[in-house]
Amino acid sequence: MDTQLKLLGRDVPAAGEPIKHLKPSVDPSTLFHRQLLDGTFWQRIPAYRHVDEATFLDHTWQAKNSITNPQKLLQAVQDLVPQSFYEDVAEGFKRAPMSLRVSPYLLSLIDWSDAYNDPLRRQFVPVASRLLPDHPKLTLDSLHEQADAPVPGLTHRYPDKALFLVLDTCPVYCRFCTRSYAVGIDTENVEKVSLKATEERWEKAFRYISERPELEDIVVSGGDSYQLKARQITLIGNRLLELPNIRRIRFATKGPAVMPMKLLTDVEWIDALTAVVERGRKLHKEVVLHTHFNHPNEITAITKRALDVVFERGIITRNQSVLQRGVNDGIVTMQLLIKRLGHCQVQPYYVYVHDLVKGVEDLRTTLQTACDIEKAVRGVTAGFHTPTFVVDAPGGGGKRVAHSFEHYDRTTGISVYTAPSVKPGYFLYYDPIDTLAPDVQARWHVPAEQDRMIEDAIAQARANYHASARASAVR
Ligand code: SF4
Repeated sequence: MDTQLKLLGRDVPAAGEPIKHLKPSVDPSTLFHRQLLDGTFWQRIPAYRHVDEATFLDHTWQAKNSITNPQKLLQAVQDLVPQSFYEDVAEGFKRAPMSLRVSPYLLSLIDWSDAYNDPLRRQFVPVASRLLPDHPKLTLDSLHEQADAPVPGLTHRYPDKALFLVLDTCPVYCRFCTRSYAVGIDTENVEKVSLKATEERWEKAFRYISERPELEDIVVSGGDSYQLKARQITLIGNRLLELPNIRRIRFATKGPAVMPMKLLTDVEWIDALTAVVERGRKLHKEVVLHTHFNHPNEITAITKRALDVVFERGIITRNQSVLQRGVNDGIVTMQLLIKRLGHCQVQPYYVYVHDLVKGVEDLRTTLQTACDIEKAVRGVTAGFHTPTFVVDAPGGGGKRVAHSFEHYDRTTGISVYTAPSVKPGYFLYYDPIDTLAPDVQARWHVPAEQDRMIEDAIAQARANYHASARASAVR
């Protein structure tokens, strides 16, 4: 004992003495979040068999060789999938509200030997045989972004924050895009609202923002900031930084998840963003990057190298995921995603319960799934790397913490939220119908029954809300 100190009742080993571990150390080979796909993995795809690393890392090559229709998919993937799969894609493509655009990078990460179940294929390539009928209460712009837009492409919903949709194109098109009403080119099913990248339209937005002293926080999105030219990043960033009321700017892009090489090879773009971030820092204003990874397979050694560049430049990156069936609705997958993001210095910020989007009912989960996964995720890493699971309340209630519903009827799949600081009223979210019992599914096919289920849910939510308000008053 003379070689040891006693501290808080525990022996402290002297220098050189072995440390007594309280629990067994983890086998490093099980730390999967650090094991990133590396090497020339894209050469598994027939069309990229002879593509060297320099070419694959060139963002202009990625953009030029992106897959935009089923024929191009066939030319790239060739005999890795049977002909019947291409026919399924062609039919899915015809029915989809979003156009098709998949980067060679993403295409190379799909396991084509299990194409139907692959989590990346599910997000980007529609197949008709897996589609489900839309929920009857689903609309194209379910978040009412256009209704809350005082000028085209600027949604002002929260008191101090606005969403600025600066353009309507993206490096890839996600099947599940909330903004399928505007993003991408017209499809057979949807004629898009135009949100072109014009300075004339932006000018109106800058004027509105300057006339609203309460606005402090602007999300620059679209579409996708990756598609902005370097000079456009500079223009938008500087115009916003020069407004005295603006304190925070977020550039939103899915780019790091779907084409990370741009951060390595488009030096002009990353330089422009860095300059805005640094200018903001000198003005004591925060400029950050918000990105959108959904599955751990989207994060490779290329992603890590790209995000290292972003981190070295002092740019904070946060992630917003969308919870999707067959993609990331398992506890192990979500935990791995969160740990892998942290490994790349990306802060997991939100996981959204899938919005009520047309044509992707096969991707939506129940609210219960979100609540269960959130419970399992909390505690696996630091709190500031633990995402909040939210429902973006249909009808413009804004983001509500998933488990903060006033009422959730798991039988009918209706959950009801209130948003007292955003908008009066009750906001309803609906579980996918195919997850409900057969007799309840039948009720959803009868309009009068739909109304009855909704009225009952709202009545129950109202009763719960008033009961909890009364209880708070008593306390
Ligand atoms: S990148 Fe974002 S805006 Fe573009 S299609 Fe995907 S979800 Fe929609």
